[in-house]
Amino acid sequence: MVDVIVLGAGIVGVSTAIHLQRRGRSVLLLDRREPGRETSFGNAGIIQKEGVRPHEFPRDLKTLLRAALNFGIDIRYDPLALPSYAPALARYWWHSAPARYKRIVAEYAPLIAHAVSEHADLIAASGADNLIQKQGWFWLCRSESARDKVFAEAEMDETEYGVKHRKLDADALAEAEPDLRIRAAGALHWTEPWTVRDPGTLVDAYVALFQKLGGSVAIGDAQTLQAAETGWQVQSADGPVSAAETVLALGPWAGELTRRLGYRLPLFIKRGYHMHYRAAPGTSLNNWILDAEKGYLIAPMQRGIRLTTGAEFAAHAAPQTTMQLDRAERVARDLFPLGERIDPKPWMGARPCTPDMKPIIGPAPRHKGLWFALGHAHHGLTLGPVTGRLLAEQMTGERPFLDFSPFAATRFTS
Ligand SMILES: Cc1cc2nc3c(=O)[nH]c(=O)nc-3n(C[C@H](O)[C@H](O)[C@H](O)COP(=O)(O)OP(=O)(O)OC[C@H]3O[C@@H](n4cnc5c(N)ncnc54)[C@H](O)[C@@H]3O)c2cc1C
Repeated sequence: MVDVIVLGAGIVGVSTAIHLQRRGRSVLLLDRREPGRETSFGNAGIIQKEGVRPHEFPRDLKTLLRAALNFGIDIRYDPLALPSYAPALARYWWHSAPARYKRIVAEYAPLIAHAVSEHADLIAASGADNLIQKQGWFWLCRSESARDKVFAEAEMDETEYGVKHRKLDADALAEAEPDLRIRAAGALHWTEPWTVRDPGTLVDAYVALFQKLGGSVAIGDAQTLQAAETGWQVQSADGPVSAAETVLALGPWAGELTRRLGYRLPLFIKRGYHMHYRAAPGTSLNNWILDAEKGYLIAPMQRGIRLTTGAEFAAHAAPQTTMQLDRAERVARDLFPLGERIDPKPWMGARPCTPDMKPIIGPAPRHKGLWFALGHAHHGLTLGPVTGRLLAEQMTGERPFLDFSPFAATRFTS
C-alpha cells in the first residue's frame, strides 16, 4: 500500500514521482521495463526553452503537397495507417488555424518558460550536471531566404515571449562548426536551451534521486490497473499494490488504458528514429544542429553523433521502416563528415500527441484519485519536470505555480 502509484517511468512519470515524494507522499513508480528506456531514451536531448510554439500542422500548400508526395525527410506516412489517423489529424489541422494556434501558443509558452529552471532543480538535486551542455542549439539555414525568415520569427519570439537568440552569418557559423562540408547562409543560435548528452542516463539519475527520497520502483503492467476499495490496485512483479491515487504517465501507450477506462481522448503518435555515428577522423561536431530545410537533427551525444528524424505517421506497432533515416543520413553526410554507424539497428520511438498540441495534465474527469500526465508530443523531455511539479501541486492541494486550466482533460471529454 502506497499513497500514489505512478504508471510509466519515462521523463514525465519519473519527474512526477519525485515531486510527489518530495511533498511527503509515498510513491511507487511502475513500468513494464527498466525506467527511461522508451521515448525518453531516444530523443534529441534538447530542453527546449525556445519551444514556445508547439509543432503545428502545416497549412501552406507547398508543404502539404511535399508531404503528400511522401518523399520527404521531415514527414513520412504509411498510406495504410492514414484512415485511423484521419480524425485526429483533422482536429490537429483545425487547431492549427492561425487564430486558434495563437491562443494555444499563449497558453503553452508559460509551461516552456519554466522548462530549464525546473530541470535545473532536478539536475542539481540528482548530481547530473555532467550530462548537460548549456550552450543552446543551432537552427541551420541553407538559403538566405530561409535565414531571413527564421531570424524575423526569432525577433518576434523575443519580443513576445522573451526567448533569446543570436544570429550567425555564414562566417560565424563556419567558425563555430569548422568541419561542416557546405557553406550555409547562417544559423539561428537559440542561446538559452540546455542539451542532454544522454537523455536515458538523465532519467536514470532522476530515478536514483526519487529512490534516495524514499520512493520505490517496480516492474509491472499498467493494464492490470483496477478500481479497488482503497482507490486503485495494480499487479507488480512483487505482488499487488494499492493506492488511493494513480497517475497515468504512459506516454505513447496512454491511449490503451484511457480507452479501457472509458475516455475517448483524441491521442495519436508521431514515430521517430535515431542512429549514432562516429565522426570522421580529425573532425568534431560542436553543437546540436537542426538542418531545418531538410528535416533532421544531428547532436554530439555521449555515444556518438546522434541523428534524429522527423515525424512518421504509421501504426505504433507496425515494423520499423528505414527510408526516412536513410534519406536523412544521405543528406547529413553531405553536411558533416559522419563516419560509420555505431548502433546495430535504428532506435524507434513515438511522440505522444494531442490535436491541440498541449499536454493533458490534471485529474481524470470521471474517476476519483486518477490523474493524467500525457500527450507531451515533441516536448516531453523539455516539459517532464514542469509537468511533475504542476501535477504534484494539484494533487497535494498546493497553489499551482502556473495556471493549469488550459491542460485539463475536460477539453476533450465534455
Ligand atoms: C526522435 C525524437 C526526438 C525527440 N526530441 C526531443 C527533444 O529534443 N526535446 C524534447 O523535449 N522532446 C523530444 N522528443 C519527445 C520526447 O522524447 C517525448 O515527448 C517524451 O519522452 C515523452 O515522455 P513520457 O514520459 O511521456 O513517455 P515515455 O518516455 O515513452 O514513457 C512511458 C513509459 O510507459 C511505459 N509503459 C508503456 N506501457 C506500459 C504498461 N502497459 N505497463 C507499464 N508501463 C508501461 C513505457 O515502458 C515507458 O517507460 C523527441 C521524440 C522523438 C521520438
